[in-house]
Amino acid sequence: MINYDPILQIFSSTLVNDKKYVSGFGTRQLGDSRNIENVIRFFSSAEISYKTIVLMEQIHSANVEEFTPQNGKEIERIEETDGVVTKESQTPLVVSTADCVPIIFADKKAERIGISHQGWRGSMKKLQQKMVKKMIEKGSRAENILVAIGPAIGACCYDVDDERYYNFLEEFDGYSEKIFQMKGGRYHLNLMLLNYLLLIDAGIKKEHIDWFPFCTKCDKKRFFSNRRDKKHEFGEMMSFVMKV
Ligand SMILES: [Zn+2]
Repeated sequence: MINYDPILQIFSSTLVNDKKYVSGFGTRQLGDSRNIENVIRFFSSAEISYKTIVLMEQIHSANVEEFTPQNGKEIERIEETDGVVTKESQTPLVVSTADCVPIIFADKKAERIGISHQGWRGSMKKLQQKMVKKMIEKGSRAENILVAIGPAIGACCYDVDDERYYNFLEEFDGYSEKIFQMKGGRYHLNLMLLNYLLLIDAGIKKEHIDWFPFCTKCDKKRFFSNRRDKKHEFGEMMSFVMKV
């Protein structure tokens, strides 16, 4: 189940969060997460103590890295990647999104966590499946991996042009009826559902996936939206996962 914490102003998954694992999908109330000061302020006001915050450059790739601490810096930024996994504790993995899909992974048996950011490009390149593969490569079993899919643009607001529609059709032929709906003469893509289906394909159990039909563009009160917001009001929300 996805819950909202009105004090921390984050959504979180009851599948992932417990005494040893903390994670969340931030709202716009936390400020623009591209500004690292806002991220640091969140962890300190939430009283989450950490050694190193791990950020990614986020280039809409399907690159996945494993994080191992190098020099004990407070902030580490991994270049040219959109997915990261780690076994380290007190090391929050953070992504920033505003319409793209943030996904949190936790394998409590192998004690490994991960986070990824996928818009249409990363979704098409199957980054979510590459995250699962990376965790398996490092010793996880698919049936032990818990997943939380965070707030992203809903099919209600995500119309795509014909070229992109045909690109998706080519790549995900079997899913086209599920992931597309026609509205106002244009195809609308359900990016969250596509990620959900691809995770199931990768061997994740249905009951191990938490998600909620958010729409970042419809819900202006809680979320920033790349499609909706004008430049001066635009920001991105942070999502994070950490082993305590
Ligand atoms: Zn919407």
